[in-house]
Amino acid sequence: MKRRKLINRLTGATLGSIWTSKYALALEPEDQKNEIKVGLITDLHFGNLAPDGIDRFKVFKKAVERERPDHVIQLGDFCFGEEPAKKLMNEWNAIQADKYHVLGNHDMDKDTKAEIQKFWGMKSRYYHFDQSGWRFIVLDMNHLKKGDDYIPYGNANFYLDSSMLTWADPEQLTWLDATLAESKLPIIIYTHQPLGHRPDSPQQRPILDLIKKHTTKFNRPKTRAVICGHQHKDWHLERDGVHHICINSASYLWKDGKPWPYTESLFTFMEIKNGALSLTGMKTTWKERPDGVQADPAISERHIALK
Ligand SMILES: [Zn+2]
Repeated sequence: MKRRKLINRLTGATLGSIWTSKYALALEPEDQKNEIKVGLITDLHFGNLAPDGIDRFKVFKKAVERERPDHVIQLGDFCFGEEPAKKLMNEWNAIQADKYHVLGNHDMDKDTKAEIQKFWGMKSRYYHFDQSGWRFIVLDMNHLKKGDDYIPYGNANFYLDSSMLTWADPEQLTWLDATLAESKLPIIIYTHQPLGHRPDSPQQRPILDLIKKHTTKFNRPKTRAVICGHQHKDWHLERDGVHHICINSASYLWKDGKPWPYTESLFTFMEIKNGALSLTGMKTTWKERPDGVQADPAISERHIALK
């Protein structure tokens, strides 16, 4: 008995040190061996704006079964917490992979934040998890700022001037500071609303400053990429050594006060391997082409060196 305990302790210690040395090195440029694959879908808008949302999601689910990612994440504006969306949640729950949610603004059109979290089975509105040598941080930028008060979105209380919208609360920023500081792993941030495209906005600046503050001993940001949705657009930009990538909606472009549906569902698989972040591309057509839009409904195939 004593011997077994000792062996367990030794094994635990040995495994611990192997784990630490293998993954702690992941922040250094010569070690980019940790591979991970993620299934990403965003802005499905199941329900009124995408009546065929369930079919779009089923196409994603089928691709997930084929591609077998390490985790799956929906980046917000997923559904309302009402009866018809239960069939969507059944499809979601049937996916055989680790699954994560990000809160989008429209998820609080008909519910409080706590209600939609309960509907989804999402324990915390912001959180982190570590997988295969990477740290993933999920943010919640769904607060109104009125004076010094940060008010959570709920029951469509956020149809106000944009200067009041898309704030992260101070408690979350304190947590983010600590979570970035303690990480020995390279970091990917998931957020519904983009962070890099208006860097001087008072909403984005404090988060970008925290990302910039936490660097490795090689003076490069621990955060390698920020993945967002919300805009129903397809773009990539680099800011202060961090890659910001916007994933297009699974369903439509919003223009002139109405949705312009894509013929097929859009989603992507992100793979981090050999020091590069890759996204699989998808291109579809418009059911009806909106005037003045040059871009095709697509998610670009990308290969980004995480140097
Ligand atoms: Zn949104």
